[in-house]
Amino acid sequence: MSYLPELFGSMVFNESVMKERLPKETFKALKKTIADGKTLDPNVANVVANAMKDWAIEKGVTHYTHWFQPMTGITAEKHDSFISPSADGHVIMEFSGKELVKGEPDASSFPSGGLRATFEARGYTAWDPTSYAFIKDGTLCIPTAFCSYTGEVLDKKTPLLRSMEVINQQALRILKLFGNDSVTRVVTTVGPEQEYFLVDKEVYDQRKDLIYTGRTLFGAKAPKGQELDDHYFGAIKPRVQAFMKDLNEELWKLGILAKTEHNEVAPAQHELAPIFTTTNIATDHNQLTMELMKKVAARHGMVCILHEKPFAGVNGSGKHNNWSISTSSGTNLLDPGDSPKENAQFLLFLTAVIKAVDEYQDLLRVSVASAANDHRLGANEAPPAIISIFLGDELTDILESIETDSAYSAKEKTELEIGVDVLPHFPKDTTDRNRTSPFAFTGNKFEFRMLGSTLSIAGPNIVLNTIVAEELRQFADQLEGAEDFNAALGELIRKAIKEHKRIIFNGDGYSDTWKEEAAKRGLLNLTSTPDALPYFISKKNIELFTHHKIFTEEEMHSRYEILLENYCKVLNIEALTMLDMIKKEILPAVCAYQKELSDTIAGKKAVSSSLDCSVEETLLQKIASLSACLYKKSQALEGLLLKVKDYDSMQECANFYRHSVFATMQEARAVADELEMLTAQTYWPFPTYGDLLFSVR
Ligand code: ADP
Ligand code: MG
Repeated sequence: MSYLPELFGSMVFNESVMKERLPKETFKALKKTIADGKTLDPNVANVVANAMKDWAIEKGVTHYTHWFQPMTGITAEKHDSFISPSADGHVIMEFSGKELVKGEPDASSFPSGGLRATFEARGYTAWDPTSYAFIKDGTLCIPTAFCSYTGEVLDKKTPLLRSMEVINQQALRILKLFGNDSVTRVVTTVGPEQEYFLVDKEVYDQRKDLIYTGRTLFGAKAPKGQELDDHYFGAIKPRVQAFMKDLNEELWKLGILAKTEHNEVAPAQHELAPIFTTTNIATDHNQLTMELMKKVAARHGMVCILHEKPFAGVNGSGKHNNWSISTSSGTNLLDPGDSPKENAQFLLFLTAVIKAVDEYQDLLRVSVASAANDHRLGANEAPPAIISIFLGDELTDILESIETDSAYSAKEKTELEIGVDVLPHFPKDTTDRNRTSPFAFTGNKFEFRMLGSTLSIAGPNIVLNTIVAEELRQFADQLEGAEDFNAALGELIRKAIKEHKRIIFNGDGYSDTWKEEAAKRGLLNLTSTPDALPYFISKKNIELFTHHKIFTEEEMHSRYEILLENYCKVLNIEALTMLDMIKKEILPAVCAYQKELSDTIAGKKAVSSSLDCSVEETLLQKIASLSACLYKKSQALEGLLLKVKDYDSMQECANFYRHSVFATMQEARAVADELEMLTAQTYWPFPTYGDLLFSVR
C-alpha cells in the first residue's frame, strides 16, 4: 500500500503542515504554547488561523466548527462558513485568530445538571492546541474545551486535560527523586480497543427498539449463537472486509492509528484497536472512530451498533482502555526496565497504581456506570462489577516477597533489595489472558476492561490520572524529606503492599467464590448505576477532585445529577418503546395469528367433528394465555411509569427505575419471547435474532 504514507494524516493540520505553512517564529510560538499549556498570543492566533484556512480551502472546505465534547458523551459541532461580504457584492473567505481561539455556541440545551440557569445560557469553546485541527465532511474542525461564562466546566475535555497536568506534575517529582532531571513532561497514554456489531440496514430498520434505544428489547434466542466459538478471529466476510478497508482509510486520513481488526466472540461482532497515543488525543480519536464507524457502515448498507448489550444471550461490547504513563521522550514508566534503578522506579509507580485502585474502587466503578453497561458488568461475560487488579503470579510473588522480606525464589534464596537488585525476570503476557479481570497488568501497561463500548474514554481516564497522581503526590511528599532514600522507598512500598494487597486477585472473576471472597476482603460490589453513582459525591472523592482542581464541588454535584438523569431518561425511553412495540406490533400480530388458528378450528369442525384440532387448540390456548399475560405486564409497566413523578429526588427516581420499571420490563420481555417461539414466522412483526445476527453475509 504505497499510497498509505501520503494518505495518513492528510486531513490533519498537524505538526508537519504547521512547519511547512507557518512562518518560523509563529511555528515556534505555537509549539511553545502547546508544550507549556499557555494561552495563545492573539497575533500568533491570527497567523495560525489564516494558514489553517488556506490549507482547508485548498482541500475544498467551506466551513469551520469548534468541535467539543459536552456531557452528552458524544461530540458537538456548530458550523460557520468562512464567507464574509466584500464591498463589491462578492464574498471573501475569512477566518480570524479570534474565531480560531474562541467560539460561542448556545449552551442552554446541553446537560449541565443545574449548573447554569437557562437565562445564563451562554457558553464558550476554547481551542485546545494540544489536539490538532482536522477536516471532516468538508468542514474544518477545531478541537475545543467547553465552559460556561461563569467559569464552570461543561465538557469532558477540560477535566481530562487538567488531570493530565496533575499527573505530569506529580510524576515529575517522583522522577527527580530517582535522579531523572532531564525529563520535562510526563503524559499518560491510552490505546482503546473498540468493539461493535454490524447488522444489515434493511433488517435493522424494521426494529423500533434498535432505532430508539440502540438495543433489542425483545428477541428469543436464535438456534445458533456464539457457542461454537466459530466467529472469534474467524475469516472476515467480504462485506465486512470492504467496510473495514473503507473505515481504515477514513481513520488514517484523520491521523488515527487504526491497527488491528478482527471478528469478536458474538456473531456479527467485531473489534478495532488503534496504536496508543496520549490520552487527550486518544479520546478525540476514539470519538471520531465511533462516529466514522457509523457513517462508513451506512455507506455499505449496514448499521454499526455501538450499544453495550444489543442482544441478550450473546456477548455485549466493551472498550478496553490500555493505559500507561510515559515520559515525553517515550520511556514507559510502567515497564520494569533492566537496571536496579529502573526497577525501583517501576515498583514505585506500580505500587501507586495498586494503592490508587484500592482506595478509589468506587470512582473507577462510577466512571464506567451507565444504564447500558449495567447489562454487562457482573453478568457473566464482561468483567464483574467488583474492581480488582490482575498482576499475574510472577509479579504477585515478587510483591509478596518484598512485603514479607523473604526470598523471592526458593531456589535462589535471595532477598530483593529495592534500588540495589535487579528484579527477577518475569515473562510478559504469561497469564495475561485472564479475561475475567477488570483491571489487568499486561507487562508494561494496565488494561481497564470495564468500559462500555459507547462510553467516552474521557471519564475513566480523568479518574485514573487523578487517583494515580494523588498517590504519587503522597509518595513524593514522604520521599522528598527522607534521609536514606532507598530505605524509605523500601518501607513505603512494603507498607503500601501490605495495606492494599486485598485488591490483587489473579483468579476467576466470574466465580461465586470470588464474590464471597471479595466481600470478605471488603471490596465493593456495586451492581448497578443507581447504586454506584452516589459514591461520586462522597467526601473522600470531593476532596480528591477539588484538591487537584479537576472539578469544583458544584461541578461534581452537577455531574452526578446529569448521570442520574441520563439513567432515568434511558430507562424511560426503553419502557415507552417496549409499550409501543407490545401494543402496536406484538399484540396485533398474535391476535391475527389466533384468529387464523380459531378460523382453522371452526373450519375443520364444520367439515367433520371428528377431525383432529389438537395442534391448533393447544397453540391457541397457550398463545391466548400468554397474550393476556403480556397485556397485563404492559398495563403494569404503564402504571409504573405514571408513578415516576411521585419521586422528588433524582436518586429515588433512578432507584425506582432500576428496581421496579426495569424488573417489569424483564418480565414482559420473557413473555413476549415465549410468544415469539409459538407464533408463525409470517405473523411475527419484526426480524428475529437469527435475522439480525446473521444478516450480513
Ligand atoms: P493485545 O491486548 O491484543 O495483546 P497489545 O497488548 O499489543 O494487544 O495492545 C492492545 C492495545 O494496547 C493497543 O491498542 C495498543 O496500542 C495498546 N498499548 C500498547 N502499549 C501501550 C502503552 N504503553 N500505553 C497505552 N496503550 C498501549
Ligand atoms: Mg488487549
